[in-house]
Amino acid sequence: MKKEEYLTPIEDAFEIISKAVKKTEIETINFIDGYNRILAEDVVSQISIPPLNNSAMDGYAVHFSDIKDSSGENPVELKIIGEMQAGGDFANELVEKGSAIRIMTGAPVPRGVDVVIPVENLQENSETIIVTSPLKEYANIRFAGEDVKIGQAVLKKGDKLDSPEIGLLASMDKQFISVYKKPRVAIIATGDEIVEPGMSVKAGQIRNSNAYTLLTDMKKYGAEPTYLGIADDTDENLKNKLKQALDFDIIITTGGVSFGRYDLVKDVVKDLGFNIKIEAMKMKPGKPFVFGIDEKRLFFGLPGNPVSTMIASSLFVRRAIIQSMGGKKVEKPQFDAILKHDIKKKPGRKHYNRGFFTVENETIYVSTTGEQGSGILRSMNEANCYLIVDEEIANVKSGSKVKIELFKHMEI
Ligand code: AMP
Ligand code: MG
Repeated sequence: MKKEEYLTPIEDAFEIISKAVKKTEIETINFIDGYNRILAEDVVSQISIPPLNNSAMDGYAVHFSDIKDSSGENPVELKIIGEMQAGGDFANELVEKGSAIRIMTGAPVPRGVDVVIPVENLQENSETIIVTSPLKEYANIRFAGEDVKIGQAVLKKGDKLDSPEIGLLASMDKQFISVYKKPRVAIIATGDEIVEPGMSVKAGQIRNSNAYTLLTDMKKYGAEPTYLGIADDTDENLKNKLKQALDFDIIITTGGVSFGRYDLVKDVVKDLGFNIKIEAMKMKPGKPFVFGIDEKRLFFGLPGNPVSTMIASSLFVRRAIIQSMGGKKVEKPQFDAILKHDIKKKPGRKHYNRGFFTVENETIYVSTTGEQGSGILRSMNEANCYLIVDEEIANVKSGSKVKIELFKHMEI
């Protein structure tokens, strides 16, 4: 069988990985610690937010019927009968027709009145106001429950928590929430030539960057990563390191998964009892890739080249982490864009170029970041999107429509 026949198309890989994912356990945490966690419960509001009708402006609350015909020629004078401060609790006070009550932003709107006139739109005397232009009925009034209704399931099981969600939990006074535990991820770098930052380096050796891009990725995706160090390219050393990783939910290695003489990862992982589901990916960069499972955990053998590792992490590991925490939204936003230059490509694999999009005259344009070698990590730094060219497509001409996918944006 030719090597090409082992290549798994990306969409198939998504499915294989999703099926293999095991959900983590559920735990209860304080909502304040909820950032980047995924809810394991629907959150139903026990209250209306805001609890009472309140004013959106500093001004005067009046009866709409008193001012609806007001104009420069027909000024309406209303008696000031008092003041409502934010936090005041006078919602049952009745304001009679012909009167106005001074009201602050956020203060409850008393009974009877149905419009708030901002201070800047009226003339304020010591005991009266004069209105010369009508507003719409209910203008500048925020209604009770317009943000959240009592009984509304505002947040749902599977929702990821970010600033708006944490704010909503605070408004609902939901102090404790059920979330899925963070999957524990072990990261291992492999390669005789790999040296840690800060250590002395000989010509021909390469600094370890993958462990650190992955550590950062795992935190970003909401996992709890542990870095276990570099394994040499020997069966024994690799096996020892991998055994240390068997305590974890997800194991990630980088390097050692191509078809070179020292690419031992797949065989060692098999020896440890993992069932290999993917042996290589039908994509570029990122062809060297191994995915396996045993009864408890997932194994990702990511490619060694720094760009390939990052793309594989952002496409495959990211999904597995989100899904293991019960998350549902895993797709990144994709848009059509106009290609700014020719791209050379052979049909066969799906290409994830590093792209830079701009918006000019309401049209999205995209170009690559330049050289696309899978060792050029700078291309990930310079990119603001992936520029995707499908498997079967050959060269792409400048001016063609291509797909871009945002990957630096946190929304999921
Ligand atoms: P491999 O698949 O192990 O042959 O690795 C492919 C390329 O990626 C080689 O040029 C390696 O030096 C490089 N590489 C492997 N691991 C790392 C790492 N942890 N950090 C940076 N580069 C790496
Ligand atoms: Mg290697």
